[in-house]
This record gives sequence, C-alpha cells and structure tokens, in this order.
Amino acid sequence: MRMDASESLRIPSGKKVDLKTCDPKWIPKWARHCDKKTVKKEALEILENNKQTLMARQELLWASDTYALLVVLQGMDAAGKDSVIRHVMSGVNPQGCQVTSFKTPSTEELDHNFLWRHMKALPERGRIGIFNRSYYEDVLVVRVHPEWLARQKLPSEQVGKNFWNHRYEDINAFEQHLVRNGVVVLKFFLHMSKEKQRQRLLKRLEDPKKHWKFSVSDLAERGKWNDYIKAYEDMLSRTSTEWAPWHTIPADRRWVTLASASEILVDQIEKLNLHYPKPDETALKKARQQLEEEKEQLK
Ligand code: AMP
Ligand code: MG
Repeated sequence: MRMDASESLRIPSGKKVDLKTCDPKWIPKWARHCDKKTVKKEALEILENNKQTLMARQELLWASDTYALLVVLQGMDAAGKDSVIRHVMSGVNPQGCQVTSFKTPSTEELDHNFLWRHMKALPERGRIGIFNRSYYEDVLVVRVHPEWLARQKLPSEQVGKNFWNHRYEDINAFEQHLVRNGVVVLKFFLHMSKEKQRQRLLKRLEDPKKHWKFSVSDLAERGKWNDYIKAYEDMLSRTSTEWAPWHTIPADRRWVTLASASEILVDQIEKLNLHYPKPDETALKKARQQLEEEKEQLK
C-alpha cells in the first residue's frame, strides 16, 4: 500500500496556493472507504517499511558519494516537525545524517546575509541534512513581524516595494545552485488546522512532561494565525519550483504525516537510481591473497 504522497501532495511550480483548499486531515483515495482504525494501521505499516528502505538507501547515498539530500521542514508550532525527525529518521545511521534547528538569529548571524547560517549547515555529499525551520523563516516570521526586518540592518535602498520578491528570487536561485551541485532539495510544509494546534498546545500545558515545549510566545504567534497563513500561501506559491518543490503534508493526523513524509523521502532517493561504486576486482583479489598468506606466516 502507498500514500500516493509524492504525486498528490506536491505543489506544482507556478501554482497559486490557497490553503483553504488543502485539507489538513487528507488521506489517500483508497483510504476513504476504510474505517479510521484500518487506515491508521496501514499508514503505520507504510511508515515502518519506508524506515527500513530509508536505512538501506542512506548507506547507498553515502557509498555512491555523489548526492546529498536536504530536507526543509516548515510549519506552525506543534505541527509535528520534531516528530517527523524523530520517527522518520530513527532507523538511519547517525553518521549519515544531521539535523539543524534554526532559532531566532544571533547578533553574529544578523550581521550576515540571511542565507549565511544555512549555507554553513548544508549536508556534505553522501549525507541527509534536515533543516528544522530554515531560511524560509525570513519570508514568514519576518514578514509577519516587520520589526525583525529592522534588526537585520539592511541598507534602506534595498528595502523597497520589491523586497519580498527579491527574497523569493534569492531563495529559488540558492536552491537551484544546490541542485546543480548535487544537493537534492525536498521541502515539507506541515499543514495543521487551527483547532488541532489549540488541542496540541493545551496538551502541552496539561502534561508536566511537555511543559518545556510550551512557550508563551506560541500563543502570541497563534494570535497572528491569519497573517501566517497569508505569508505561507505567498511563499509556497512563489518558491515551489521544478528543481525544489514544496509538499503540503497533512498534519492533523500524525500517522498520515509520518507515512507521507517518509514515502516522499524514499521516492526521492529511489529516483536518483544510485549504485554502489564498482570495486577494483584485481585489488580485492590481491588483498585476499595477502591476508591468506599471512595466516601461513603466523602459524
Ligand atoms: P522553535 O522551533 O519552537 O524552537 O522556535 C524557534 C523560533 O525561532 C520560532 O519562533 C521562529 O519563528 C524563530 N526564528 C527562526 N528563524 C528566524 C528568523 N530568521 N528570524 C526571526 N525568528 C526566527
Ligand atoms: Mg516552539
């Protein structure tokens, strides 16, 4: 069984995104005739299979040493970014992957171009890199909070009416540069309903073990929900490209989120058609011979 996520959830380049038409409770077509319990069971099985495949393919990615994979995760608080990282990557060799979480930029980071800190965190060939939030915050939170832009201390002649268009152009060009250099870019927007966020934030408050996850600022950001949706819609419409497409991952049901994200990842690596490097048969034969001869000498 498949989620059909790569085909159904990809945002075509140039499409004007209206998030009202994207269902955070989406399930694949075949699942619409099944009861919820069956769908959940199937989705968890899909996730498990994908985790196994991902484990094997990650080794191949490393051995073939040609591509890196960059996964960009965006979504509102409690959309499930951490859960995707924890579950989907749980089987992967820790040597082959890296996670970078981008928080409010430091003074040093604000003194550089907005892509600087992300460039430094890119995965090397053979590895999977995950950005838990990313340079997209610079057209989301910064757009919703213009006071953040002032802190970036940009020359005033650069902050004109085309400012956001220029940011989108820079991001698209940056991602094209990455793809041309062997970094495959996959972007997941975890799309959650406002009601689901309310329930999850409340759960964080009710469970003492989850208190650390709650920040008062989460509520302030929630208060600007409509501004965020507008910023997301504009960003998704302008930066889903042929070379680095966005996927709208339904985020109200965790098992759908995990099964879909893992499937898109696996599909993407399969598309690379990777092979183990051809061994030098003569060198292997010689090495085997040498080790066998040593056995005689050690007797
Ligand atoms: P969390 O992911 O919940 O730990 O929160 C990280 C916080 O850092 C979020 O509130 C983001 O909006 C904020 N953040 C990340 N990148 C930026 C940025 N470029 N400018 C301003 N705030 C940012
Ligand atoms: Mg948070």
